[in-house]
Amino acid sequence: MTDGNVVLFPFLAHGHLTPCLDLVRLLSVRYPHLTLTLVTTSGNLPFLRRLRLPPALRFAALPFDPSDHGLPPDTNTTFALPSHLVTIFNHAVMNSLPPHFRRLLSELIADESLPPLLCVIADMFLGWTAPVAEELGVFHATLYTSGPYAMSIYYSLWINLPHIGGGDDDEDDEIAIPGIPGVTVRRGQLNPKMRAARSMDHPSARFVRVQAESGRRSRATLWNTAEVIEKPFLDAWSRSSDQPVYAVGPLFSAAGRPARDDDGLAAECLAWLDAQAPRSVVYVSFGSQNRLPPKEAAELATALDKQGRPFLWAAPTADQAPPPPETGESGWRSGMVARGWVPQVDVLGHAAVGAFVSHGGWNSTLESLRFGVPTVVRPIEGEQFLNAKLLTEVLGAGAEAVGGKEVAEAVAEVMGEEERGRELRRRAREIAEGLAAAVAEGSGGSEAKGASLRALDEFVQYVMRHSGLQGEVVNETEQNFCGAGHRNNFHGAV
Ligand code: UDP
Repeated sequence: MTDGNVVLFPFLAHGHLTPCLDLVRLLSVRYPHLTLTLVTTSGNLPFLRRLRLPPALRFAALPFDPSDHGLPPDTNTTFALPSHLVTIFNHAVMNSLPPHFRRLLSELIADESLPPLLCVIADMFLGWTAPVAEELGVFHATLYTSGPYAMSIYYSLWINLPHIGGGDDDEDDEIAIPGIPGVTVRRGQLNPKMRAARSMDHPSARFVRVQAESGRRSRATLWNTAEVIEKPFLDAWSRSSDQPVYAVGPLFSAAGRPARDDDGLAAECLAWLDAQAPRSVVYVSFGSQNRLPPKEAAELATALDKQGRPFLWAAPTADQAPPPPETGESGWRSGMVARGWVPQVDVLGHAAVGAFVSHGGWNSTLESLRFGVPTVVRPIEGEQFLNAKLLTEVLGAGAEAVGGKEVAEAVAEVMGEEERGRELRRRAREIAEGLAAAVAEGSGGSEAKGASLRALDEFVQYVMRHSGLQGEVVNETEQNFCGAGHRNNFHGAV
């Protein structure tokens, strides 16, 4: 059996970091003989060391000073950053880290006290790591922390900006997606930055081009999704690129993500939920870096309160909380605002939760699908509009709405007894069963194992065969398995 060092490099945003840490946990349990090295920037080390991670995990820190790029000095991730600074942060990471990463990889290759460097697994927003690894002869894989449906459309939109030239008035204007026949988006489904972009030189367009072009030099792709929800889009991605695809999600469910230590807020949220009736609560969260406009947040909280509907509102940053009720009372009659990091996975898995109001971040989308919680998406930026499109138009397990009153009405419909609500809930439950099966260990060998666990095993074997190292990495849970890998030939769906 060969040991090897796997270098994992998550992008510096919670929505990217979290699934990468899930992958770390999963690899450490299934492949305990591998050495795992997590790359980050020095400012993130104290936070990471506080999390519950495998004790043998090694850390490697790259220097990064946010002040050099005009960012607030404590900017280690995009957490709580306003949208315009997120773009500056993305470019700062892309422009300043490559030489440090190159030096680190060279050192890891030369370090004889470590096992041989088996591969780099880097986030989809760190595409520039692929040519660096290639130059040093190291196998590189990309971890996509969003699904192929959204990413193929998102990349094509940013690379081609097909909406430029048309008027900007008609929300329902259908825009064809270059390279993806038969798929259109409405103008209203373009995110605000994209909709405002007027030239290929837009900073976000430049950022995405680098990720897509450099990412093509990666030798395999890992996806935090499952075949049961995205098989046609995984196949389409694989047909149009030159990389094997491995759907290994939902990673949080495969790995068993522990709640963060949070000064008691997790326990408080769960105790509040314990006191509510089954399927009665709507959970509201806009993720780690988005917020509703305050007026819309006030309207939504007021409308839910008027419905007398219990709601739990996550506010990891102060400005994500809704403004206080206009009645002058200190709190909501039916709602609880949780100020801090909410244990979202435990909340969505709680029997009291009957619906989710979300910004449509991919992790939140997968988490709600895994627990069969129907979602009302109010997309704000990034590829959230496309995750909403997948959820509503393709999977039929949620609704989309904009505006406080409109979102509250959609919640009433999703949780109500009319035909549409019942059908959305049925689809959500059906998908949840499929996702549970995708990450089930099963018994009786590789055939019984869930498709996402099989894909992870196939990925590890593929890396072994193509990394230039000799030997075989054996999965603890199944000694004889050696999968074939999904090899596909494709060029540039993005
Ligand atoms: N999350 C959480 N508690 C919070 C807010 C967010 O656990 O109070 C987690 C959530 O479960 C998800 C991630 O943070 O795993 C947010 O990722 P997502 O892709 O949904 O949105 P982003 O934050 O990237 O916009």
